[in-house]
Amino acid sequence: MSMPTLFEELQRVRTYEYTEEDVREFEILHDEIRALKKKRNAVIVAHNYYRPEILKIADFVGDSLELALMASEVKTADVILFAGVHFMAETAKIVNPSRTVLLPNLGAGCQLADSAPAEDVAALAAKLRKEYPDLAVVSYVNTTAAVKALSDIIVTSANAAKVVLTLPNKNILFVPDRNLANHVAAQVPEKNIIPWDGFCYVHQQITPEEISRIRRNDPELEILVHPECRPDVAALADAVLSTSGMVRWAKERPASRFLVVTECGLSDRLAMEVPDKQFVKGCKLCTFMKVTTLEDVRDALRDMKYEIEVPEEIRVPAERALRRMFEATK
Ligand code: SF4
Repeated sequence: MSMPTLFEELQRVRTYEYTEEDVREFEILHDEIRALKKKRNAVIVAHNYYRPEILKIADFVGDSLELALMASEVKTADVILFAGVHFMAETAKIVNPSRTVLLPNLGAGCQLADSAPAEDVAALAAKLRKEYPDLAVVSYVNTTAAVKALSDIIVTSANAAKVVLTLPNKNILFVPDRNLANHVAAQVPEKNIIPWDGFCYVHQQITPEEISRIRRNDPELEILVHPECRPDVAALADAVLSTSGMVRWAKERPASRFLVVTECGLSDRLAMEVPDKQFVKGCKLCTFMKVTTLEDVRDALRDMKYEIEVPEEIRVPAERALRRMFEATK
């Protein structure tokens, strides 16, 4: 069987309608990026939510945990171009400080990470420690480097409950996503999880009414929900999974039709990788994840911008918290 062309693959995507001319431009940019990658001795790692034409030129595509591990293992490349959002590029720099880490567009921030400023997290932790002297600060990877630096350990949506269970502490301040915190609390009732009152605006928009309506119209669908969604949405799921868990589930399960309830990039990735299955529309777009273009990726490698730096006094404790997570999930 012959390999599909880039145009054929991109026709399966639901978020964008690509013309043949768009795809011809992408192919020219892909050639430029390949040449620049060689010149800079760079690797491109991309988050599942990025634009499909960027995923197609990445060396590695994954979720936050996979990308953090991947970044920590980069040994031969000099440059890591991070097609993700700012906290992800920071994480790469934290775990692999001798590499140059580039974020192609500084507009790629994260509203969830920004909802937990380090000073406020430190102040709340200090206040809570008066009542709970054993308090541990557990931070989702979707936090700034400064918040990671004051955390005992980091979690991702793929491993949060497992990591929390490894801690001796009963009392846990869980930062910054309250929906993920509640999801973890339900799985580890022996812990007292105190959620930071943050949420991801993308996942928070999804309502149970919307999911129930899609389910009523299509009862055969398997519904996969990300734990950043509201608990009343998660309650309607066939499975609550991280994005890497969703990829595995959709590839391995016999079902042929799925509703993937998270940012739309994941349905687009699955539509390209699993063409014999259907991924029904019902996702939401993250403007931060979509702000970066293929031109930005090309320009970043051409001009070596925008270099991400993390001061050592933040990087060292942040790395300790991240490495504790790697150890806890070995
Ligand atoms: S989807 Fe939500 S958590 Fe992810 S980058 Fe966008 S705002 Fe941040």
